[in-house]
Amino acid sequence: MENDKELKPISIKELESFNTPKVWEVECFLHSFNSLWPITGWVSVEHLSESIIVKSELQTLIELCCDRCSQQFEHKLFCNTEELIRISTKNNKKSHYTQMESSHELAELNESLDSSSNFDPERWIFEHVNLELPISKHCGEKCPMHSHIEFTPKTTITNKTQPQKTNVKDSADPRLAILKKLQKNYLP
Ligand SMILES: [Zn+2]
Repeated sequence: MENDKELKPISIKELESFNTPKVWEVECFLHSFNSLWPITGWVSVEHLSESIIVKSELQTLIELCCDRCSQQFEHKLFCNTEELIRISTKNNKKSHYTQMESSHELAELNESLDSSSNFDPERWIFEHVNLELPISKHCGEKCPMHSHIEFTPKTTITNKTQPQKTNVKDSADPRLAILKKLQKNYLP
């Protein structure tokens, strides 16, 4: 199949009929996302038995405002992602999951698409480049405020590198929330 350059939505039904992943070559500016360079790279989507898997290798250059000195600076943004999205139908059966779907613990995924809906690559790119925006914006070593303040907690960076699976599990486990609440109440 030839790679597509137009970011047109595709129906889940159509994806299911393909034997190979659908690939879009990306080189575009998005209306609602300000970037200095076009977003370039590729996005692919493949239909598995009860889900679709979306992969991407995208990059662009954006302008950010430094949290410390309020100066504008350029930041190279990468969006290299692999995401499994569950297809919701009336009779999803766990026994039909492929090995890859099982390894992603499909049942615990929050993202889902209806089997009669479309996958919209442009919307997906918009959502995912936004997710890659840095939480703490710092213009770098040359920042005039660099030596004055050192308040950015280092955990903001390390949190991001943790596997997503752990986060999903933590937030999904009600026992953990109860335990945390109890600790709060009883610890001095
Ligand atoms: Zn700065």
